[in-house]
Amino acid sequence: MKAVVVGGGVAGPATAMALQQVGIEAVVLEARHRTATEAGSYLTIAPNGLDALSVIGCLDLVRDLGFPSRRSTMLGATGRRLGSVTLGTPLADGTPALTMKRPHLSRALMDEAARRGIEVRYAAKVSSVATEGSRAVAVLDDGGTVEGDLLVGASGVRSLVRSAIDPDAPAARYVGLTNFGGFTRATPLARELPADGWRFVFGRHAFVGLHRTPADDVVWFVNVPEPEISRERRAATSLAEWRARLAALVADDTGPAGELIETGELELAGDNTYDLGHVSSWHRGRLLVVGDAAHAPSPSSGQGVSLALEDAVVLAGSLASVGEVTPAFDAFVEARRARVEKVVAVGARSSSSKLPGRVGRVPMEAMLRVVFRYLVTDRAQDWITGYRVSATPEGRAVTATSGAPAPGRPRRR
Ligand SMILES: Cc1cc2nc3c(=O)[nH]c(=O)nc-3n(C[C@H](O)[C@H](O)[C@H](O)COP(=O)(O)OP(=O)(O)OC[C@H]3O[C@@H](n4cnc5c(N)ncnc54)[C@H](O)[C@@H]3O)c2cc1C
Repeated sequence: MKAVVVGGGVAGPATAMALQQVGIEAVVLEARHRTATEAGSYLTIAPNGLDALSVIGCLDLVRDLGFPSRRSTMLGATGRRLGSVTLGTPLADGTPALTMKRPHLSRALMDEAARRGIEVRYAAKVSSVATEGSRAVAVLDDGGTVEGDLLVGASGVRSLVRSAIDPDAPAARYVGLTNFGGFTRATPLARELPADGWRFVFGRHAFVGLHRTPADDVVWFVNVPEPEISRERRAATSLAEWRARLAALVADDTGPAGELIETGELELAGDNTYDLGHVSSWHRGRLLVVGDAAHAPSPSSGQGVSLALEDAVVLAGSLASVGEVTPAFDAFVEARRARVEKVVAVGARSSSSKLPGRVGRVPMEAMLRVVFRYLVTDRAQDWITGYRVSATPEGRAVTATSGAPAPGRPRRR
């Protein structure tokens, strides 16, 4: 069996490697050039995503890219502690959630897929896809075609495969927050922050995340509640202007964010934040969507990558156990839909807690203290980060069937 995978972000290469483990050949088609510089910004992979990486033999690879993130601590604008939660129970070998640069993760997975003998094609933008009898076809921008027995749309939140499956499929929803991300190198301000976790500040005008690295750098991001930023506004605003605006927005809040922004590099500016909830059809004929193309929790959930990785394992496991494409797609939807839609809903609530409410700042902080004491607790989050796809029937099917070259052992080509 051969699969055409559209998209070489996270879900794409992970799916291709999981499919290879169950004996399905895959080709990954990615629109970007390999050397294209992608907007920076960091993400955290929760233990449920790390578990999925371990099933596809990529945990060591990814561990080398990141630094540990064990806990999130939430503060109000004046420094009042609102609450604290762990980022999930570490894996059995002790690996906690890991934070890393988004493009590094995607690049590492694509390189690993290629190293395992999977055909990985960059600058391969797919312009249309179709399902024809027992075949799936991707048509490339240059007119070329790639065919397979199935086609997996791992093409992100604006997926053309989702629209090909259902022209009436919903578009992603703007969640009301813009995102800015940066990095401040080797700074003494790092020592004001927790050693191995995120500090989040619900500020007067913006929500800020700060993470110290083992080298005493600081990774930071700022979410600003405001209307979507247009392409024109983005093009007309210099990095220095964005930076000055961000520093002004956080100036009156607790902590070193203002100084970190002024002395650091702004790597991601004016990124609009989206989510994607219920998509009624994830598959049609030989086409299926996975990852953000099927369900995108807002970045505030910290779960997009982890769900995409879980999808990769469950799809391969479903195909291995069911055999036939359409029933396997049905089994995939059955195994995934309830969980991912619930996570998207949690992410939407998390995004709205960053938006200014009708109540003032002080009552808002009092409300958040209650939320973090009784609702957003380690126990309440365990169904998300404590999930282990390796323990599901699909995860076990991938582990048991593994026909991939052993991780760490280059395959002769
Ligand atoms: C600022 C920000 C912070 C985030 N933080 C976190 C976090 O802390 N933790 C977390 O788990 N998640 C986080 N996320 C979400 C996470 O990045 C996504 O959920 C994840 O990348 C989804 O992976 P994917 O492979 O489904 O889609 P993507 O990563 O979007 O990859 C899709 C790929 O498909 C390619 N593509 C699209 N169309 C075509 C086409 N026609 N032909 C060929 N290729 C195509 C694209 O170029 C892209 O490479 C964050 C997201 C953002 C925006």
